[in-house]
Amino acid sequence: PRACLRMRDAPPPVLSFEFVPPRTDAMAQRLWHCIRRLAPLSPRFVSVTYGAGGSAQASTRATIARLKRETSLAPAAHLTCIGATREHIDDIARAYWQAGVRHIVALRGDPPPGAGHAPHPGGYAYASDLVAGLRRIADFEISVAAYPETHPAASSPEADLDNLKRKLDAGATRAITQYFFDAATYLRLRDRCLAAGITAPIVPGIMPISTYDQVARFSAICGVTVPAWLTHLFEDTSRNPELRRIVAGVVAVELVRTLQAHGINEFHISTMNRPDLPYAIAHMLGARPTGEDAAAG
Ligand code: FAD
Repeated sequence: PRACLRMRDAPPPVLSFEFVPPRTDAMAQRLWHCIRRLAPLSPRFVSVTYGAGGSAQASTRATIARLKRETSLAPAAHLTCIGATREHIDDIARAYWQAGVRHIVALRGDPPPGAGHAPHPGGYAYASDLVAGLRRIADFEISVAAYPETHPAASSPEADLDNLKRKLDAGATRAITQYFFDAATYLRLRDRCLAAGITAPIVPGIMPISTYDQVARFSAICGVTVPAWLTHLFEDTSRNPELRRIVAGVVAVELVRTLQAHGINEFHISTMNRPDLPYAIAHMLGARPTGEDAAAG
């Protein structure tokens, strides 16, 4: 199937948005502007990533608590188990449950740069262990990570797929993928999942490119291919922010439309706390504001 902007027969897809926890008051203002702008699009859930280190982790918990208190959105808290005891993780999960948070994105997290993964002796070693631990605490909805290009530390693509299956068998109900730029990369993972008997939704993670250099650097770290055609599209745009935004919008919309033409009907969109590209993507997919904020669209 080919993507087509006039493809009107597809129902608007299910969307979720990902935010990052703010480190300063100014960043918090930007985050909440972003949340208010995207909320009227009625995402299925909104997630907040979980960083390494104390204050970033506290900021995730505070943001999730505020989402619960001040909005009608369903918050999903990312939670990593690396470097922490089981008791610490279990306490956080119990506090979320008590605050009415029902959805956890369960992850292992990354060791500090240059270090290998050495599980905490009293901790959950891998995300699959974390999922099993969360299941024992409460009836959370649990999402886990999947890697269309294979996790960089996996011994093989097969072992990585087995790991995904382990996480789903342990009680996760959905996987969200690492971002990617070629639809074929995602579709290969989807086909391998189907062949392995995985029936849970494998939701594409979409990363709109607000800053090409940043995305290129980050992609190199996490093993995501930046195709030559993408680099070419952003050439000569460094002094032309308007052009960059248009290019980024077209790239993202073409990707989601291509996936939609292949029957994908759920997308998890990274916002980096900037609403414009995610809003435009959602709009192109047919999402429209609902509720009293509709006029603000
Ligand atoms: P796992 O599923 O535990 O896998 C990690 C590696 O170990 C893989 O190579 C796997 O194949 C291997 N493995 C698993 N089990 C075993 C085993 N028993 N024996 C040997 N090898 C094994 N990071 C953050 O810090 N905060 C976030 O909020 C965050 N959000 C993310 C959201 C998404 C959608 C994605 C895709 C990633 C996110 N990450 C986040 C990054 C993630 O923490 C890293 O990619 C991390 O390196 C792996 O996490 P995981 O949950 O996939 O780990």
